[in-house]
Amino acid sequence: MQERQYLDTAQQSASTGDMHPEEFRTYAHQVVDWIADYLINVESYPVFAQTAPGDIRRALPAHPPAEPESMESILVDFERVIMPGITHWNAPGFLAYFSNTGSGPGILGEVLSAALNVNAMLWRTSPAATELEQVTLDWLRQMLGLPYPLFGVINDTASSGTLYALAAAREALPLHIRQQGMAGRADVPRLRYYASQEAHSSVDKAGIVLGIGQEGLRKIGVDSEFRMDAAQLEQAIQEDIAAGWQPFAVVATTGTTSTTSIDPVPQIAAICERYGLWLHADGAYGGSAAVDPEMRWTLAGCERADTLIINPHKWLFTPVDCSVFYTRKPDVVKAAFSLVPEYLRNTASTDDEVTNLMDYGTSLGRRFRSLKLWMILRYFGHVGLAARIHEHVRLGQLFARWVDESPNFERMAPTPFSTVCFRAHPQSMDDETRLETLNERIMNRVNAAGHFFLSHTKLHGKFTMRVAIGNLRTTEQHIRELWQELQTILATEVALEQ
Ligand code: PLP
Repeated sequence: MQERQYLDTAQQSASTGDMHPEEFRTYAHQVVDWIADYLINVESYPVFAQTAPGDIRRALPAHPPAEPESMESILVDFERVIMPGITHWNAPGFLAYFSNTGSGPGILGEVLSAALNVNAMLWRTSPAATELEQVTLDWLRQMLGLPYPLFGVINDTASSGTLYALAAAREALPLHIRQQGMAGRADVPRLRYYASQEAHSSVDKAGIVLGIGQEGLRKIGVDSEFRMDAAQLEQAIQEDIAAGWQPFAVVATTGTTSTTSIDPVPQIAAICERYGLWLHADGAYGGSAAVDPEMRWTLAGCERADTLIINPHKWLFTPVDCSVFYTRKPDVVKAAFSLVPEYLRNTASTDDEVTNLMDYGTSLGRRFRSLKLWMILRYFGHVGLAARIHEHVRLGQLFARWVDESPNFERMAPTPFSTVCFRAHPQSMDDETRLETLNERIMNRVNAAGHFFLSHTKLHGKFTMRVAIGNLRTTEQHIRELWQELQTILATEVALEQ
C-alpha cells in the first residue's frame, strides 16, 4: 500500500510537479494535528519571541534550494528554525497592541480558502465569493446594530480602508481629480481633512499617498479623555475656509490606538453635515465591540458616517487579514476606483446585474476572506460573539479596578473597552525621569519573562503600559497572574533602586 502510494506520487510529480493528493492528505493530517497541538500548548511558548535580530535569517540557507526537498525536512525546519522566531499572537498572554485570535473556525476557513484558491475580483471569477462577502457583511451589519442598507467589502487592512475612504471623499469634490490630478492646477485649492491627535498613523499615510500631503491633515486637539474636541474641529474648519483651504473630510475614531478613546461621532457628524464634509469612522478596533448589545453605544453616530471600517482581525476572532469597509455611498467609492480594462470587461448579459468587488479599491486580486468570517459568525452565533466581547470588557474593567485600588499603580486613561492604560507610580517616587525608566524596565522584564507580552504608549509625555484584552483564550486567571507578576517586578525594581 505504502509502495503504491509512493509510485503514484512519483508519477504525479512527473506530470504536474505538485504534491500528489494522497501525499497531500498525509501531510495535511500531520499539519492539522500539529495545529491542534499548538493550540493546546500555545501557552508553553514564550509569548514574545526570544530571538536576537538576524537569528532566524542566519539559520536559513543563503541560497535557494536547487533540488526538490522532502516535506518531512521542510516541516522539521518549520519547527526548528521558524517557531523560535514566532511571537505568539494566539497565546492568552499576548496583551500587546490590540490582541487578536486565530479561532478554530477562522483557521478552518483560511485552509479552505487556500484550497479553493479563488480570486474574487469579478463576480464571475467566483460568484460564491462575491455573494458570500455581501451576505456575511450584511449579517455583521445586523449584529452591530447598524441600519440597512450599508454596502460592505472586505479589504486586507484598515489602512487600505482609510485610504479608499479618503480617496472617495476626494472624488466626491467637483474637482475631477481622478481624471486631471492636482499638480499644477490653479483651480484646485489646497485640500484639508481632519482627525484627532490620537488618530491612527494610517490616516496620515492616506494623505501622503493621495497627494494631499501631511500638511493637508489638520490634527484636532482632544479633551481630558483623549476624545476629539468637536468645538475645536469646527473652529479649525472655519479658519481653514477663511484661509483658502478646501476642507473635504473628517476621520473620527471609535477606539483610538493608544487609549481606545471614542470621538464624539454624533457631534462630528453634525459638523460634517453642516459643512458638507465626508465622514469616515475608524472603528478598526472598537467597532467589533458593538456585537455586544450593551456596547452598541460605542458606535453611536457611525450610522451617519459615509464610510466606516471595522477589523474582525482585531477583535472578532478572525485570523489576519480581514478588515470590513462599509459605505453608505458605494457609487462614489466605485466612481473613485472603477477602471475596467478590456480583458475584465463584462461580456455576459448577467454581468450588468452583479457587483464586481474589484471596483471598490486599488487591488484587483481579492482573497476569499469572507469564508472565514462567515464560519466564525455561524460557529459562535451572535450570542456567542457578544458573550466573548462582554467577558473581555469585564476583564478589562476588573484590571482597571485593581490598578485604581493600588497605591503603587495609576491608570492613565479611561477604559471604555477592554484595553487598560496604566503605569507603576510608587508613592515614594514623583520624579518623571525615574518613573519613565522604572516603567520601561518593568515592561521589558514582563516581556522577557515570556508569560505575557505588553506594549506601551506615551500619554501626556508619560510612558504608559497597555494591557489589551481581546484574545479568546485570555481568562481571568491570566489577568490575575499578570497583576501578580507586575507587583513582584515592581517590588524588586524599587528594592534595587534603594
Ligand atoms: N485604526 C486604528 C484605530 C488602529 O488601532 C489600527 C491598528 O492598530 C489601524 C487603524 C490600522 O489597522 P490595520 O493594521 O488593519 O491597517
